[in-house]
Amino acid sequence: MNLQANRTILLETRELTKYYYPRRGLLHTGQGSTRALEEVNLTIYLQETLGVVGESGCGKTTLGRVLLNLIKPTSGKVIFEGQDLSSLDRDALRRLRKEMQIVFQNPYSSFDPRFSMLRSLSEPLRGHTNLQGEALEQRSRQLLRQVGMPEDALFRYPHEFSGGQLQRLAIARALALNPRFIVLDEPTSALDVSVQAQIINLLRDLQRRFKLTYLFISHDLSVIQYISDRIVVMYLGKMVEMISSRSLIDGRVQHPYTLALLSAVPEVHPEDKHEHIQTQRNVPDAVRPPSGCSFHPRCPFAMAICSQEEPQLQQLREDHWSACHLNQTTS
Ligand code: SF4
Repeated sequence: MNLQANRTILLETRELTKYYYPRRGLLHTGQGSTRALEEVNLTIYLQETLGVVGESGCGKTTLGRVLLNLIKPTSGKVIFEGQDLSSLDRDALRRLRKEMQIVFQNPYSSFDPRFSMLRSLSEPLRGHTNLQGEALEQRSRQLLRQVGMPEDALFRYPHEFSGGQLQRLAIARALALNPRFIVLDEPTSALDVSVQAQIINLLRDLQRRFKLTYLFISHDLSVIQYISDRIVVMYLGKMVEMISSRSLIDGRVQHPYTLALLSAVPEVHPEDKHEHIQTQRNVPDAVRPPSGCSFHPRCPFAMAICSQEEPQLQQLREDHWSACHLNQTTS
């Protein structure tokens, strides 16, 4: 199947880089800075789900926030429907805000405990539409129905809901302005396993109904693989592999880091099509990333070249890119 030809691009990044600097540094020379993203080039197609996976500190959450312009990049571009976000003025960015929403990991901290759901759900509508009074309440009731919540939830407060119900309500609020693109930042990580499946199914259903495009961020490859069309694997701020879910299921993963993530969740591959590998050490410090391939201190396949030369992303198949020196030795 040709995954990319004739598909409309909704969002793309060009050399997207983000460093965090120590607060007291007078000159931002890069010394002591933390690498969160480095030269990330990705494309998100209309109505697809692009999964982003990696361990804590890999840059996936920063990526989601930079795409939504909640954090400014250090360099590089985010282009949404052909518009470079860095070239837009405040009014244009505000208009664009309606198109791009986010659902956070922790539904308990997503709502102000003092506000009823009517107030929380209607807040974005007050800021971006002319709806008032009864019309505002009607739209809020409609949002509740869309996420499978009863209408009496409108007059209740956050502490009266379970985590799964609150995440449904967070999704309802994200839908309020009819967005086209939603960043889902670990939306199921804080929930019980049984509730996780319900939320994933709800998200898939909403995507079909409202033609949504998702960036789905998770540390859990089994969740990512289930919901995503394509998967980006990140390590210390860099993309190390990009692969379609189909190829991942077919056991075509190439990068040792992705294999290590897969090995941590064996239920992803009941047929055991992939190689199982284990990594020994913790994630290195992003302030001083290792030379060459950042993964080399943990990689069981590391060769002499791995600590000296950084591997570049290389296209292996139409739906598969990988940054690993093994590509040269196996091709
Ligand atoms: Fe391992 Fe070398 Fe590939 Fe890095 S480039 S993942 S160290 S084999």
